[in-house]
Amino acid sequence: MERPLSTLAERLALVESRVAAACQRAGRPRESVTVLAVSKRHPPEAIREAYDLGLRHFGENYAQELRDKAAVLAPLHGIRWHAIGGLQTNKAKYVASAAHFFHALDRPEVAKELSKRRTGAPLQCFLEVNLGEESAKAGVSTEALPGLINETQALPGLQLVGLMALPPLANAPEDNRLHFRRLAALGKQHGLPELSMGTTADFEVAIEEGATWVRVGTALFGERPG
Ligand SMILES: *Cc1c(COP(=O)(O)O)cnc(C)c1O
Repeated sequence: MERPLSTLAERLALVESRVAAACQRAGRPRESVTVLAVSKRHPPEAIREAYDLGLRHFGENYAQELRDKAAVLAPLHGIRWHAIGGLQTNKAKYVASAAHFFHALDRPEVAKELSKRRTGAPLQCFLEVNLGEESAKAGVSTEALPGLINETQALPGLQLVGLMALPPLANAPEDNRLHFRRLAALGKQHGLPELSMGTTADFEVAIEEGATWVRVGTALFGERPG
């Protein structure tokens, strides 16, 4: 057994070295991948500590939790909030007002609501794609993807930047390589340069397959409370 890494600084250093090594294996510049620190259910103090260590992008699943943390941490200059969880139209207002990025857009109703509510800089959006596994509940089907791309691109206040996927929890990181490869191919086909894919379980494989954002929670913050 490896000794558990006890501080956020140690865990961040390890994630950083694994990201850098994956970039090197893939022949990609390190700057082509951003670590999105998934801070859901961790307290604002943990985010503040991560910010002090240099992290700027934070991901939250629940719209109200994102709004509340963004309000508390508003003094942190340059912090960027990513809503990464599925969204209901009645919660869209929180994401529209507090987030810089939204990774889980999968329905025109949510896109329209976000567009209606957004003021200021466009919300950077990823479409969440259901790559067809039985267990995936969320995401637009590959058949419906072109339609949703067109609808999203026509809406003011939203800027479509890429695709996102959350493949099933893998037994081994390699298990998701083909899913990541398919998402990258879809992004290329539709001219969408950003790919949000890979979590603690499989971010290195995701980077090898072209991820530009990796959503890493547990490897940075440890197990989630509650
Ligand atoms: C929680 C979550 C993550 C992070 O998962 P870890 O296994 O803690 O790295 C990434 N993406 C989404 C959509 C999540 O909900």
